[in-house]
Amino acid sequence: MSSVLESRPPRFSDGDVARIAAELFGLEGTAANLGSERDQTFLVEGPAGAGVVKLSNLGEDPATLDLETEAILHISRVDPDLPVALPRVVSSAAGAAAYRTTAQGPDGRHFVRLFERLHGRDGGPDLSDAAVRDYGATHARLNLALRSFFHRGSGRELLWDLAHAAKLRPLTQSIEDPGRRRLVESVLDRYDGNVTPRWPRLRAHVVHGDLNLDNVLFDDNGQISAIVDFGDVGHTAQVGDFAIGLASLIRGRPLDDVPRVARIATDGYQSRIPLEAEEFEVLGDLVAARLAAIVVISAWRVARYPENAGYIQAWDEDSWRLLELIGDVGSERFSEELGATRPTVPTDALIKRRSDAVGAMLTRLTYSDPIHVVCGTGVWLTDVDGRPLLDAYNNVPVVGHGHPRVTEAVVRQTRSLNTHARYLYEPLVELAERLLASMPAEAALDSVMFVNSGSEANDIAWRIASGVTGCDGAIVTHHAYHGVTAAIADLSPEEWPEGFDVPHVARIPVDGGGEAVAAAAGRLSDAGHGLAATFIDAGLTSDGIHPLTRERLAAIVRATHEAGGLFVADEVQVGYGRSGEHLWTFAHLGVTPDFVTLGKPMGNGYPVAAVLTRREIVEGFAFARRVFSTFGGNPVAAQAGLAVLDVIRDERIIPHVKHVGEQLHRRLDELQMRYDEVIAVRRLGLLVGVQLDDPGRAKAVVDAMRRLGVLIGRTGPNDDVLKIRPPLVFDDEHATVLVSTLGKALDAT
Ligand code: PMP
Repeated sequence: MSSVLESRPPRFSDGDVARIAAELFGLEGTAANLGSERDQTFLVEGPAGAGVVKLSNLGEDPATLDLETEAILHISRVDPDLPVALPRVVSSAAGAAAYRTTAQGPDGRHFVRLFERLHGRDGGPDLSDAAVRDYGATHARLNLALRSFFHRGSGRELLWDLAHAAKLRPLTQSIEDPGRRRLVESVLDRYDGNVTPRWPRLRAHVVHGDLNLDNVLFDDNGQISAIVDFGDVGHTAQVGDFAIGLASLIRGRPLDDVPRVARIATDGYQSRIPLEAEEFEVLGDLVAARLAAIVVISAWRVARYPENAGYIQAWDEDSWRLLELIGDVGSERFSEELGATRPTVPTDALIKRRSDAVGAMLTRLTYSDPIHVVCGTGVWLTDVDGRPLLDAYNNVPVVGHGHPRVTEAVVRQTRSLNTHARYLYEPLVELAERLLASMPAEAALDSVMFVNSGSEANDIAWRIASGVTGCDGAIVTHHAYHGVTAAIADLSPEEWPEGFDVPHVARIPVDGGGEAVAAAAGRLSDAGHGLAATFIDAGLTSDGIHPLTRERLAAIVRATHEAGGLFVADEVQVGYGRSGEHLWTFAHLGVTPDFVTLGKPMGNGYPVAAVLTRREIVEGFAFARRVFSTFGGNPVAAQAGLAVLDVIRDERIIPHVKHVGEQLHRRLDELQMRYDEVIAVRRLGLLVGVQLDDPGRAKAVVDAMRRLGVLIGRTGPNDDVLKIRPPLVFDDEHATVLVSTLGKALDAT
């Protein structure tokens, strides 16, 4: 592998090269040695033009020289704006390869090639942030231009290729200072542990292999104007190639500025090639390995070519400085700083920091033993210790945690454009059309406004309803929850503190129908409040899950209209297929609302919500066309919303919910027969309430299930109802685990 490193470079003089350039390429001029490591590079300049002559040791494999040349030609075809120096075709030597020939020098025959001369100036630690970012972006473009390139010579082994960093170990003997030798060894140890096992999974293709600051020139704007020296082209991990550029960009910088500069370069790179998680995990170690390679190979080569020591050692001091920095902060922390990632904090410490930082503002953590989660897929969450938790509680990730269709839609749109709804763009319009088309025709809903949360959707519905009716009375169920804004908190008795009462809000009991609404409207009227709207979550989720029947909901709507109010179907909980019957529960129950509010599952976790109504209602509202929400329906939110609808369609989620819901109900009904503590099992598709005989038992069961790895919650005015409300991709097998775990938890309490 090291034959070329070990062989001596050619020894042509300026005069030799001027003669060769004239004879072989017809380029008359004077030659000046540009300095190089294992070959010789000269600038030849004359009245008719200039070029760069490269003389390579005859020990080089000719296929390697062709590899370089063909890589350059490939780049110029794929991304013609990348400033690579094109090779000149050799006019002589019939039958020889088109872009190389040989020439006689003082120590024998060597390969010779002529390249275009590119202009620019050197760049170093003085490069501006913009130039650093641009460098990263250009590096990524170069990677992209080469990823479709194949050459049979590209599998060659180069010691500089970070794939082979472990092979540096024997060479560390050439480092005289024992402290420094240990430093390099610790970098190689870390490489063995952290990089080697990941290497086979890293994206790999043919790369430049040495895009460091000595191999690029810059124009006056700080943009790369020349990319030279393709002598290290080879097939290796793409992130290894980027690490080489990065190690060079941080050179000469004040140490406390190194991570920042690296992050800016990485931003540039990621503007073209987003790094994969595993690439980020190795990036810091690869930068360290590159620095180690520089000092190790240098020490080893100086011992052999003392006359080249100046050139060979040019980067050493700074590389040592950076290696010492990495040694001081620790490779792991250095990697985290490059990736701008945060270290995982032990759960106890995190609980304390959370409580200190959020004070009394934020709600308590769920479970006596709070869950500290790091990732989620489908119906599974994973905690910080790598333990899987079956999620039977979260209705937001309706198509499953981390669904690739949704995450990719969000990421793709985020990369291309995110702005607000006063500008014109497609996704918002398409989502509005899709939502309207999903609604039953009888409802005649024809207007959509996008907001960011269920609360806002309800708030807007409330504002319009009170505006157009001229009234300020509301009817809700006894323990309803509709949101967090000042107006909607009044309509959310679930959150009312003890003794709190709102004169303009009247409540109906969970088993109340039309007569309850009429009575509530009467009480409001007696207190001087006309009815503006009735808000109903048809699952009565926060009331303890008491799903409404068609008859009762129809009666509620009718009585609301008779009292002069408008009807708001709050589909934040029960929408998006949870019933297993229809995308919208109000539609399944056959009523015609005046407003439909959507939230939670709408973006599978990306904040997006909506209020749908009819034009004739909005047009009676004084603020029509003046309501605006900065983030509402932004392109990213809208893409999330579209992806969720697509997945629900493609994965046939609604019939799936019906099927799994029925399996789950059957198992729970069986369980109820075995446990006296279970008083009732109430259900609407994958919204299930299991009422227990005692709130204390419900709390103990929820905590016991959490310990057994299954997440559910509690609801109802007495908190005695187990709330089972999983992502809709919940399957039969999950239902089985859930119910058997519930049995164990009941046994234990
Ligand atoms: N309506 C209902 C029925 C809800 O359950 C909730 C939230 N739990 C909301 C509205 C409010 O939604 P958000 O928290 O997104 O504001």
